[in-house]
Amino acid sequence: MDRILIEGGTVLTMTGRADVFADGVVLVEDGRIAYAGPREGAPAAPEARRIDAAGKIVMPGIVNTHCHAGTTLIRGYGDDLRLMEWLETRVWPAEAKMTAEDVYWGTALAAYEMLSGGITTFLDMYFPADPVARAIQDTGIRGIVARGIIAVGGPSEALSRLEESREAFHRWNGKAGGRITFMVGPHAPYTCPPDTLLACAELADELGIGIHIHLSETAGEVEEARRQWGKTPIRHVYDLGLMKGRRVVAAHCVHADDDDIAILAETGTGVCHCPVSNLKLASGRTPVSKMRRRGVAVGFGTDGASSENMLHILGSEMRIGAIQAKELEGDPALFTSYDALSMATIEAARVLGMEAEIGSLEPGKRADIILIDTERPHLTPNHDIFALVAYSALPSDVAMTMVDGRIVYENGQLTQADGKEILARVREAAARVVQA
Ligand SMILES: [Zn+2]
Repeated sequence: MDRILIEGGTVLTMTGRADVFADGVVLVEDGRIAYAGPREGAPAAPEARRIDAAGKIVMPGIVNTHCHAGTTLIRGYGDDLRLMEWLETRVWPAEAKMTAEDVYWGTALAAYEMLSGGITTFLDMYFPADPVARAIQDTGIRGIVARGIIAVGGPSEALSRLEESREAFHRWNGKAGGRITFMVGPHAPYTCPPDTLLACAELADELGIGIHIHLSETAGEVEEARRQWGKTPIRHVYDLGLMKGRRVVAAHCVHADDDDIAILAETGTGVCHCPVSNLKLASGRTPVSKMRRRGVAVGFGTDGASSENMLHILGSEMRIGAIQAKELEGDPALFTSYDALSMATIEAARVLGMEAEIGSLEPGKRADIILIDTERPHLTPNHDIFALVAYSALPSDVAMTMVDGRIVYENGQLTQADGKEILARVREAAARVVQA
């Protein structure tokens, strides 16, 4: 049996505000957590490999509920344009030139970046599915692949993408020790007509998986939906039956009204909250606290690097999202640092329907664990450890990232893939895809 003992750090299990264990212990056995808590009561494990976590915070890996990993290739390309001009003159022409190999390297770079900032699981919507799955396999991260499906070019376009999703699922689902899983990824109601959305629901049922979709990201989208269907995008998708009896993970929901929030709560739809992307694209402010008060699970998501720029939740989504939630409520006491940490870990796992496997340090769960080095000026002193992580910690404070009990990032380096090669390949591909 492979046993690893992480000891001497401050353990945050994310099972409750009170569960903070200074000089705590985490025991990992064959990729799963066997124990997490105080030193007293920890099982003796004399033969275990030891990791000294003195001066470090030991916590669950961070969960990124919404990403378009391959867009690292066009990070910073046309950032200050308005949405349609940006899509038409930059994003779509560049994406048309991307090969599957380019998407592989772009996704590998995203995984490298995420692991370096303590993200151990991400839900990705991009294309094609094969290179995304291969990059997850090779870098050691955990990922859910939702092949993006749009049907703006007609029904046959959607059909071929549904077929590709099905084939990729059968080739890759459960591979890499279970690190690779799938959802069906209809992009949005404005790019997928009702028959395409229903075909996606059928495929999700056939494969026994969930659906990932963008809903109500912008005011314009909601306005257009009201004009076209006489209802909001969330009500439209609900009335089509998409949310009945299957897991739906909805990105953004910035403009969800009270009726929409009631639908999200009733159907157990999880929400991916991407505050930095929404701020940068001037999309609006998501009513996060209102959703959570009504029982909707909300997790942080980075969105793609072409809109958010950084694929980080520490120091980025968590910090800015918490500050924004306070501002939106007009009361700094209604959204706490623990809420922020929860939305980055266990609540994000709930959004994805993976809370039995990841999101907290509990016996039986997969050993997705990070160490944050607190020997830093901005992490000193420590009056409140949750405030420290939510408001002060930076991605570069992550000293080690473990997925399934395997160290995949340590001392600034990936351990499973060649970080230098990833950077070089992405530079080459990025220069090529933006050529006129
Ligand atoms: Zn998105």
